[in-house]
Amino acid sequence: MRKIYDAVIVGGGINGSSIAFQLAKRGYKVAVLDKGKIAGKASGAAAGILGAQTELAEDGPLFQLACKSRSMYRILIPELEDLSQVHIGYQNKGVYKVAANKEEEQTLKRLIESQQKAGEQAEWFSIDDLIKREPSVSNKLLGAMYIPNDGQVQAYELSLAFAKASMALGAEIYEYTHVSDFILKDEKVHGVKTSQGEFLAESVIVASGAWSREVLERAGLSLPIIPVKGECFSVIPEKPLVQGTIFSHGCYIVPKQSGRLVVGATVKVNSFDEKVTLEGISTLMEKAQNLVPDIAKAEWERAWTGIRPQSADGQPFLGEHPVYRGLYIAAGHFRNGILLAPATGVLMADILEGKTEQPNPFELSRLESLVHTS
Ligand code: FAD
Repeated sequence: MRKIYDAVIVGGGINGSSIAFQLAKRGYKVAVLDKGKIAGKASGAAAGILGAQTELAEDGPLFQLACKSRSMYRILIPELEDLSQVHIGYQNKGVYKVAANKEEEQTLKRLIESQQKAGEQAEWFSIDDLIKREPSVSNKLLGAMYIPNDGQVQAYELSLAFAKASMALGAEIYEYTHVSDFILKDEKVHGVKTSQGEFLAESVIVASGAWSREVLERAGLSLPIIPVKGECFSVIPEKPLVQGTIFSHGCYIVPKQSGRLVVGATVKVNSFDEKVTLEGISTLMEKAQNLVPDIAKAEWERAWTGIRPQSADGQPFLGEHPVYRGLYIAAGHFRNGILLAPATGVLMADILEGKTEQPNPFELSRLESLVHTS
């Protein structure tokens, strides 16, 4: 039997669920379709750092969007926890972006200056100051850029909270529902074909993460998004080792409210492989011990992988299909999809309603030479 909605979202990761939440709030009848489980891919694998200043060095539209998204969390978290009854584990104890050599120290000091100019808070801590605040950090480091406003969440729980909060507002979620094609007519989308039958809607939003390229091929679009595999592991120390997130080139340690430390993440470009490898985890273990030596004594918990969706220019695609009206895309959030989810939800709902400020820097048209339509 055909099911009829105002909007259908392809993908139940954090971005699909955040968009569903905003649309449901605005009174839309929404369905979220996922070929697997809600938050079963990148969104459930993420370390959960809200690293607007940690991850995005350059001021510009993406930096602005990231800072705005980060600031939305304070209001969003209680709202989501109330509606979903899921504890998100939001913490705002900052990130220490550490320097292991003189060159990194100089780069970080320049970054502090440019971010202060952009109106954001950041300061340099010498190694002595750093150890006063975080006594377990290695004294072989030279110091750290301290970013007080970059917090963190439990990414799986947050993604689930978005999904459950959407349901509380009337959205419907269909797991194990593989979208195989679009229903297209007269340069307009009218719904999708799935393993569970057809879903009709005048708005369809593709939020399929690293699989967005494959999904959009069915609408004649070759979107430049590549899969980037990441591996992580977690351990449980006997007593808390760090308060803030310790972030370095190639490794970070994120202390969760539960007491566990999440250590990530490897980077393997152009890979959909979801296997955990000894090579990946042993490299991370070595790097983590260089940051916090006592992590070696912590109890092993588990390891996992996820596939990040990287766009050709490192910025997400948030806009409409160049040919088919009503077909929207929210994909390519790479390393920052958890951070960017609140702003993505609001921006996509605004785009659907034609309410965006012009021009939208995340439109697909910015990469005309790269985005091929047929
Ligand atoms: P996904 O979460 O991948 O969701 C896409 C969904 O689409 C999937 O559930 C999939 O099953 C579904 N789908 C695909 N094809 C179809 C189809 N044909 N039909 C139906 N459904 C389909 N970001 C941060 O901000 N902070 C971090 O600390 C952080 N750490 C990370 C650590 C790792 C190891 C990884 C891998 C990523 C990390 N990220 C982090 C990045 C972040 O996880 C991603 O940017 C974000 O999760 C992308 O969300 P998404 O909803 O776009 O995609």
